[in-house]
Amino acid sequence: MSRSAHPAGPRHADVLPEGHYTAPATDLNELDAKVWSRTVTRDADGALTVGGIEVARLAEEFGTPAYFLDESDFRARCRAWADAFGADADVFYAGKAFLSRAVVRWLKEEGLNLDVCSGGELATALDAGMPAERIAFHGNNKTVAEIERAIEAGVGRIVLDSFQEIARVSHIAQRLGTRQRVQIRVTVGVEAHTHEFIATAHEDQKFGIALADGQAAEAVRRALTMDGLELIGIHSHIGSQIFDMAGFEVSARRVVQLLAEVRDEHGVELPEIDLGGGLGIAYTSEDDPREPHEIAKALGDIVTRECESAGLRTPRISVEPGRAIVGPTAFTLYEVGTIKPLDGLRTYVSVDGGMSDNIRTALYDAEYSVALVSRSSDAAPMLVRVVGKHCESGDIVVKDAFLPSDLAPGDLIAVPATGAYCRSMASNYNHALRPPVVAVRDGRARVIVRRETEEDLLRLDVG
Ligand SMILES: *Cc1c(COP(=O)(O)O)cnc(C)c1O
Repeated sequence: MSRSAHPAGPRHADVLPEGHYTAPATDLNELDAKVWSRTVTRDADGALTVGGIEVARLAEEFGTPAYFLDESDFRARCRAWADAFGADADVFYAGKAFLSRAVVRWLKEEGLNLDVCSGGELATALDAGMPAERIAFHGNNKTVAEIERAIEAGVGRIVLDSFQEIARVSHIAQRLGTRQRVQIRVTVGVEAHTHEFIATAHEDQKFGIALADGQAAEAVRRALTMDGLELIGIHSHIGSQIFDMAGFEVSARRVVQLLAEVRDEHGVELPEIDLGGGLGIAYTSEDDPREPHEIAKALGDIVTRECESAGLRTPRISVEPGRAIVGPTAFTLYEVGTIKPLDGLRTYVSVDGGMSDNIRTALYDAEYSVALVSRSSDAAPMLVRVVGKHCESGDIVVKDAFLPSDLAPGDLIAVPATGAYCRSMASNYNHALRPPVVAVRDGRARVIVRRETEEDLLRLDVG
């Protein structure tokens, strides 16, 4: 199906502001493979296909806005992480990035473990058949009920986040007549974001127990004496969307230092360290993420080196990628509605979703790219801001991008790399109906999370 018969839209290629926004050197019809999932291609009409299905067909069948998740890409990324880290390490997918029953089954089949951080995520994981011993339970304020349920289910580990929680989990485990395997989450004084990391003063946050001032050493001391706990290791998670391995290097060094102190004080070599997640992905062509095997090698080398110099046996490493697995595997498909050129500024392109399906731009100033995907176009590029339909001027999906200047209402545009933290952070603001997630694979598309309906909204409204 071709959508090339639209009347010409506004032509504003001539109003690009000076300086910062230079028109793209590349043809807008060309897709940058870095930001799209692996089975995405363009067919002869210029229409985008994923898993062998044209987006116009997907839009017709499933409506817009909708997230389309490339299942074979998701599975391939799981395998790449599992293979890269090998049998001596564990890969935990961070469920908060995006979790559904289908995702749990894929993880299970591809040999990954799963991080959860709420009763709801735990329930989803268990319901879809993830073996409890492959689940790690996180969070800075787990409720007593959540802890009981996790222990009763037999989760492989609980990551302890505070002194109170060390006592709480121990008491609950004892009451339930068991010993729970636990790690202690420490803050190493490093916070990493995107291209940089800052190695001072980041203990001022709600997660973990600070290594500084001997706090973490005290936490280990207490955990080792609690009857309800089996302390298996130390956990550190330093940030998100990280490209620079230097932050992990500092983190690993400090965690290994703690292991050495623990050995010296208690004669115990804790067998595991968890270096968390946060590995970056390409949201735009500017980003250059590393491959899992490079990350595995870098982390493995750091830990081995630090342990050798501390005279420790190398512990088993775990990592917790969320975004790096699911982020690149999905795009959000929108239909273009109102197009509003602001002379001398930019053209506002409104779509049928917005901050309710992607809050990251408003929340973190995140950058995304966008492409016209229902047809090709040879029109000149125009500078656009893609905005949603919510009652908020901060309702921005893509802050600055170029789209062809013949863009018209009814065109389909897609924002790639929306697999992580978009559906999982989606809201009902303005009583928006949260979009479906459709898994596409080998010419077949199926809904894995259905679109919300007005009935769903009204069902909760029991006044
Ligand atoms: C959020 C989180 C992750 C995953 O982060 P990504 O940026 O999605 O890789 C891993 N571990 C912990 C403890 C987290 O809080």
